[in-house]
Amino acid sequence: MDSKMLKELNQQIQEETYSSYIYLAMAADLEANGFKGMATWMQVQAREEKIHADIFLNYILERGERVELEAIQKPPVTWESPLAIFQAALDHEKHITGRIDHMVKVARELNDNASLNMLQWFIEEQVEEEANVGEAVQQLEIVGDDGRGKLMIDREMGTRVFSVPASAPYYPKPGQAIGA
Ligand code: MG
Repeated sequence: MDSKMLKELNQQIQEETYSSYIYLAMAADLEANGFKGMATWMQVQAREEKIHADIFLNYILERGERVELEAIQKPPVTWESPLAIFQAALDHEKHITGRIDHMVKVARELNDNASLNMLQWFIEEQVEEEANVGEAVQQLEIVGDDGRGKLMIDREMGTRVFSVPASAPYYPKPGQAIGA
């Protein structure tokens, strides 16, 4: 694999791990403020991001290359409101979409078809991520300061259940088939 591609893929392990880490921080802040359902939703999101990181790690190893883990920065501790949290999450997902698009560009330039193929799953995944987080932003904007509305959203979001994505490439590897 070209070293430029490898560098991007290694960086993406950091990006996805940070995603998981910041969503964990958001889940903790939500729970501390009594939004247990939204906290559950964010916990599920954090677990999914960890899987994204694992996919990039597994892919690098599958290609016979070296994994190099980067430092993870400290996420914020608290946000102004649930709306501020989901807006920050949406901004973050847009950043991740930009990263995926950038990697696709690099893979194209290098004619790295295996990487292009793997990244295809993430292109679809990012459409879904932005749509899901965007929906939460929209609902929270609609209810505004109405506490009852916020609790209704909280209850609905608390029904989200984690499941290992069935179609994910390079996941799970033997020993990672941990179920739900
Ligand atoms: Mg992700």
